[in-house]
Amino acid sequence: MNRNALIELKSVAKSFRSADGAPRTVLDEVNFSLAEGEIVALLGKSGSGKSTLLRIIAGLIPADAGNAAYRGQGINGPASGIAMVFQSFALFPWLTVQQNVELGLEAKGVSPEEREKRADAMLELIGLAGFGGALPRELSGGMRQRVGIARALVTDPDVLLMDEAFSALDVLTGETLRNDILDLWDSNRILTKGILIVSHNIEEAVMMADRIIILSSDPGRIRSEIHIDLPRPRNVDSLDVRALIDEVYGLMTMRSAQEAAAGTVAPTHLGYRLPETDVSHIEGVLDLLAAAPFNGRADLPQLADEAGLPDEELFPTYEALALLGLALVEKGDITITPLGLRYAEAEHTLRQEIFGQQLLTHVPLAAHIRQRLEQEPTGTLTEKPFLELLEEFLKADEAQQVLEVAIEWGRYGEVYEYDFHTGRLKLPDQEEE
Ligand code: ADP
Ligand code: MG
Repeated sequence: MNRNALIELKSVAKSFRSADGAPRTVLDEVNFSLAEGEIVALLGKSGSGKSTLLRIIAGLIPADAGNAAYRGQGINGPASGIAMVFQSFALFPWLTVQQNVELGLEAKGVSPEEREKRADAMLELIGLAGFGGALPRELSGGMRQRVGIARALVTDPDVLLMDEAFSALDVLTGETLRNDILDLWDSNRILTKGILIVSHNIEEAVMMADRIIILSSDPGRIRSEIHIDLPRPRNVDSLDVRALIDEVYGLMTMRSAQEAAAGTVAPTHLGYRLPETDVSHIEGVLDLLAAAPFNGRADLPQLADEAGLPDEELFPTYEALALLGLALVEKGDITITPLGLRYAEAEHTLRQEIFGQQLLTHVPLAAHIRQRLEQEPTGTLTEKPFLELLEEFLKADEAQQVLEVAIEWGRYGEVYEYDFHTGRLKLPDQEEE
């Protein structure tokens, strides 16, 4: 075992049961360690198992197989040296800021006087001095997340876990908060010995971490790892940082060997988690890519700059473009395909036609919906059977989301129609036009 390991995971696996009772592997063969003195960032697509991994480390859920240890001791339930910050802040709305922060100490049996003293000190440290008596709803999002962080740090955790802690905040607020935390860490004003952050944001990971780990999807496994030796604070515009951001983009868009050999993306299955992006984003990015200065090929960070959208919105759009055969994404670049170019040059009706045709060819869920509708004498069906089908692969809310994407795309491509009042899908009625 690594002598200085705070957290050590060996061959960790986790499955969840889907609606039909069959197990679905979310994490498989995950080997990971967090050493003393390290900040590690975990990146990966939505649904790749990042939160699940954090919850296993926090002792909130057990692994099914393998070994998870904190300072050499098996993790069975929440360990007192590990604290977690959530994206949703997770504050109690009826408690004051001070009471919310003290909560973590109360659970540890710290006396009321001591609790007050430590909470005061922590509120001061995190920039909330004077706000102890406020209720969460009186604070801005950024301030609320400061409370979430104060509540985690007041227990002087050895290990701090942050699950997309900045992603519900606007860009500037998120940046300020993350710089404040780095500042506390780099100046040793907190006792925390190791930080693991889950992020959606490549720049954030590169600015913060000593090491970045990328999780693959279905099942989640550690796919790549990058060490970052640059001192902090880092300058986001420096060549070193730009080069690293490029490198991480490259790793995030690395295709599997089979995909690269076939020159396509791997075909998806019926329960594939369709990327959460809408047609206007798909077309917007394609138009941007086709036009000058890119003329069909762009470096992803540059395209992101031009689009003015964050990674977490762009990555699903890139994935949709690749799924639909309109662009290829590889090694940090995106390249328009000949079909994508035709699409970009076409006007509305031809666009819809291409979209529909690609959808039927490359998205099994859309093809399935269409086929089932064609088999119905009435040409209509409720969404229920499709939701049930998706729930064999996904959690209920995710199934709903994926079906919404399939419906939106299918309506646009005129593959089927959807009636919002009745919740029924139906074949487009060509005759009536
Ligand atoms: P990420 O944080 O990377 O977006 P998660 O770890 O939240 O991903 O989820 C990974 C997968 O595990 C998802 O497909 C999700 O549906 C599934 N999952 C997570 N928690 C549960 C649960 N309690 N029950 C069933 N499935 C779950
Ligand atoms: Mg998550």
